[in-house]
Amino acid sequence: MATSVAREIHFGPGAPPTGRIPLGLAAGLLALAIFVVDTLTPLEGAVAVLYVVVVLLAAKISRRDLMLASAASVVLTAAAYLMSHGWHHVGSPTIRAAVSLAATGIVTFLSLQNQQASEKLLAQAQLLDLSHDMIFVRDPAGPITFWSRGAEECYGWTGSEAIGRRADDLLRTRYPSDRTGIEAELLCRGWWVGVVRQRTKSGFEIVVESRWAIQRDERGRPSGVLETHRDVTEREASHAALTQSERRYRRMFDASRAGLQQQDWSQVRSELRKLERSGVQDLASHLAHGTEFLERAKALVRIVDVNPAMLAITGAGSVPTFLGSLKDILSETDQTFAESVLAFARGDRFFEGETEVRTVDGRRVPVLFGLTFPGEEEGSDGEVLVFVVDVTERDKAQNALLAAQADLARAARVATLGELTASIAHEVNQPLAAIVTSGEAALRWLRRDVPDLGEVSSALTRTIDEGKRASAIVTRIRTFLAKGQLSRDRLNPAEVIEDAVLLVEHELAKNGVTVHMQIDADLPEVLADRVQFQQVLVNLMVNGAQAMASIPGSRRLTLRAKREAADQVAFAVRDSGHGIADDRLARLFEPFFTTKNEGMGMGLAICRSTVEAHGGRLTVQSRPGEGATFAFTLPVAEGVSP
Ligand code: ADP
Repeated sequence: MATSVAREIHFGPGAPPTGRIPLGLAAGLLALAIFVVDTLTPLEGAVAVLYVVVVLLAAKISRRDLMLASAASVVLTAAAYLMSHGWHHVGSPTIRAAVSLAATGIVTFLSLQNQQASEKLLAQAQLLDLSHDMIFVRDPAGPITFWSRGAEECYGWTGSEAIGRRADDLLRTRYPSDRTGIEAELLCRGWWVGVVRQRTKSGFEIVVESRWAIQRDERGRPSGVLETHRDVTEREASHAALTQSERRYRRMFDASRAGLQQQDWSQVRSELRKLERSGVQDLASHLAHGTEFLERAKALVRIVDVNPAMLAITGAGSVPTFLGSLKDILSETDQTFAESVLAFARGDRFFEGETEVRTVDGRRVPVLFGLTFPGEEEGSDGEVLVFVVDVTERDKAQNALLAAQADLARAARVATLGELTASIAHEVNQPLAAIVTSGEAALRWLRRDVPDLGEVSSALTRTIDEGKRASAIVTRIRTFLAKGQLSRDRLNPAEVIEDAVLLVEHELAKNGVTVHMQIDADLPEVLADRVQFQQVLVNLMVNGAQAMASIPGSRRLTLRAKREAADQVAFAVRDSGHGIADDRLARLFEPFFTTKNEGMGMGLAICRSTVEAHGGRLTVQSRPGEGATFAFTLPVAEGVSP
């Protein structure tokens, strides 16, 4: 054979050709037998015609063997004739010999033609072998007649195993629709295309894209079906995974209780590039200096999809009515778009903020939003996902809470009014008494025979000072009762303590209490509301004085102030009274807990909330018989060196 094929290619349902050696041997023996019979037997028949069988056998081997057998048959025919009849005998044996030679020649010619046709066919079949697709040819009835190398490699059966088997049985093919319908379509159109499932020799199921073409004989009857298959198992698997993930995303998108939008920012990207090309280096300052770009960019952000929750937030009836530009829904009060654009330009993956969107009926809805930018991938600017949460209810609740807190604080201040009345009376009475005393003293010095003007002057100075104190007390009370914000001032602790002691001087003196101050030098300033800070000290001192009212002996009130931590100053008011029993200690800060006949039980409760409002803590330590210590902290004013 002229071709060199690594694989034997088989056509037809028959067995593969017999090997070269047995065929050659058979042809040789047959030729010898014919020759012997032709030469040695007296048979008068055209025995030499049988050489055509030898030629046909050799034709099965190769072109060279065919030519060799043909030549040998001619030589043997001629030799037998000459040996039997000699040179000069012309008659019927000569005609028989000539017929035999003609038969050998014709068979040789036909066999050569047949061989050429087969070789051509083989060459074409080898072309099919070059393809990685699985190609086979089957009878219209089903049995396979050709099986390509691609089919061998993918399915696992060799040609000799597959040829002659019914394709559907061998591959256990599962069709997407009725098999008879597919066959009918093939016969009608001449081709069929579809995706089928088949099993390889090892039982593994593969998904293949199948193309069938029908072959017809000269009379138009189907003579074979060429099936080409491509293994698309992986492609199908990834396609299925993609479809599943898309479905999952869609479910999440639609079912999410947060509003979701898919936005397309690709035109904003081109605008940013244009801006860059025009020489804009600092985008942030460019955006800060004009709104023209931002307005254009806002109109260029396209909303391409929204979920039902987003429709509900804005009151839009359907998805198509919602889709458009971001400009259509973003409130004109929005302050976050510029920052979103900056985040997008920086390549950030996420940006969140708080803004307002417009509803279809013109209302503004406060929302929290999160933008997720997919990143630098080509085309991903069209897939910006936005999460939107309506915070109307939260804002309403927060505003209500703030109002309630303010009212409560005011109510608490008013509630202390009654309790404060007594001490206000004392506080204002005390300077008034001092004014009267100083006024009387001044008069006395004036009425002397020789008025002592120096004494008069100092008595009048005291009068003025006391008047100012009374006025300050009134101011403090007014501030305390006003519905105002807590003021935070940088206060010198020593000064505030001294002022507070002045306020309760009268009460302390009345109860025979001596005050001892242990105030560290160089205390840092604290951050507090002056009036409230004083109020706490006054309350604790008055309580201490009252607790010692019934004890015999010395009554000491000790005021301490020291730096506790880097950011705090600690204050303590200690008395030498009876102390507090354990069961009372626990209830001390409860509103309306009092052991006094005319007490209100609000003082300590208010002190504690005042201290806590300043970021500190008010605590008490006491053992019966050893007095009580009330301690609290206030924050150091920032920027003060230790
Ligand atoms: P009020 O003085 O109107 O009773 P407070 O809240 O200031 O209200 O005090 C609550 C109670 O705590 C007082 O009635 C008293 O029994 C107790 N208390 C407060 N300070 C002291 C103290 N220094 N020593 C002993 N008991 C005290």
